[in-house]
Amino acid sequence: MSAKFDRLKEIVQQLNRYEMLNELLYWDMRTIMPGEGFDAHADVTDYISTESFRLGNSDELFELLRDISEPGEWEALDDNWKFIVTKMREDQERSRRIPEEVFRRAVAITTESERAWEEAKEASDFSVFAPHLEKMIEVQKEIKSYSHPEMEIYDALLDDYEKGMDSATIDRIFSELRDGLVPLVHSILAVKQPEDPRFSRPCDVNAQKEVQKLLLTYIGFDWNKGTTSESVHPFTLTVSGGTDVRITNHFHETNAIDGLFSAIHEGGHAIFEQNIAPAIANTPAGGCDYLGIHESQSRFFENILGRNINFWRPIYPEVQKLLPAFADISLEDFAREINHVRAGMIRTMSDEVTYCLHVILRYEVEKAIFREGVPVSELPALWNRKMKEYLGVVPQNDAEGILQDMHWSDGSFGYFPTYLLGSIYDGMFLDAMQADLGSVDTLLAEGRIGEIRAWLTEKIHRFGSLRCPKEVLKAVCGREATAEPLLRYFREKYSEFYPIG
Ligand SMILES: [Zn+2]
Repeated sequence: MSAKFDRLKEIVQQLNRYEMLNELLYWDMRTIMPGEGFDAHADVTDYISTESFRLGNSDELFELLRDISEPGEWEALDDNWKFIVTKMREDQERSRRIPEEVFRRAVAITTESERAWEEAKEASDFSVFAPHLEKMIEVQKEIKSYSHPEMEIYDALLDDYEKGMDSATIDRIFSELRDGLVPLVHSILAVKQPEDPRFSRPCDVNAQKEVQKLLLTYIGFDWNKGTTSESVHPFTLTVSGGTDVRITNHFHETNAIDGLFSAIHEGGHAIFEQNIAPAIANTPAGGCDYLGIHESQSRFFENILGRNINFWRPIYPEVQKLLPAFADISLEDFAREINHVRAGMIRTMSDEVTYCLHVILRYEVEKAIFREGVPVSELPALWNRKMKEYLGVVPQNDAEGILQDMHWSDGSFGYFPTYLLGSIYDGMFLDAMQADLGSVDTLLAEGRIGEIRAWLTEKIHRFGSLRCPKEVLKAVCGREATAEPLLRYFREKYSEFYPIG
């Protein structure tokens, strides 16, 4: 190997050290840090981020990447390193084009905007957030005009979260899904399933943690390469690629189901990260950068597997032993509850199927902002109109309407669609998996979930970021993105629980 390549590997390792330190600080901050520890944590995080930014955007790295891409050096790289060098070059070129003044202004706008959103949500008053949202939209447009000058603005925003998944493709699959789902959801909601009070009986939080342990072990979370903790919002974090992947959860005494499904969801993210090939771990190719693909794995475990009655057959008696409040609830009643469809206002509390409509709504509002130039002042009314059309309900105030999510306050436009892309990919993966392994119902009922996990690792996990979303679909499913399998899955599934014909 050349001296230049050796130096590149050193820099990659150094960048990885910085990242590991920041991830550890973040983990500590969100789980066990005492309140007054914040300033010290923020100071060190800031220091490490600055050092990392300097090295990542240095002239030395810029020249190294350029030289290594020249004939002579390039052929000596293996395929993984060819991918890594190309990715690092592209990321660096995009980021170096943003003037420092613009970057600094964006940071200041974000700080203000996050604070304003919190205040606005607290007061349930969109007008408090509106002027900050306007600034945020303008600065994001400005940033993308430098970083992605060749792309239309909304495509450029999407590109940050789900590379190559352009809005033309998303338009096609989301409208296919919306047109199929709106009538399906309306006919389900017309059934008016009553609330079952048995599911809000108190459950000891420590007992819930025991069930979490059982579930994570069952789905294939590797405890030698991972650990768990508690935080306000559940998340998954990779400290070291393939060897140290952690998840958090949040438990509610009177809603055990919520914590159990969060555990399965984050477990799905973690299993992905634990199974990335060691050859690319801790490089820019290890760890999956495509949020939709990542989300497809958490949602596959949470929804496709976890909300299937057969998933629970081998373990439900043990769950009942650990949670006495469930002792008199039959498996069939439990399955009905975890598939209960409700017309709610809040995305994060919604069920598997209405969730899709919550995301489509946000995607359409983002397009209205960036494509159609709809003024910020008109967004709450647009939001409420779409809620009425898709779910038949109208938010009573801004807090349960347009102010509910924090994403726009930190400039994360184009992030929401990735949640739904994950589910759409899942419909396609389920088809491909059943073609290879036979009925997933049977595998689950027989407790052979390990075979499902192994299939996902073989087809998806081990590649990390090496294949972009469109390449994953082509390799795993042999076809372009389509919502048809997900729609078919929903129709079949809900006709078992609801008399919808
Ligand atoms: Zn997730």
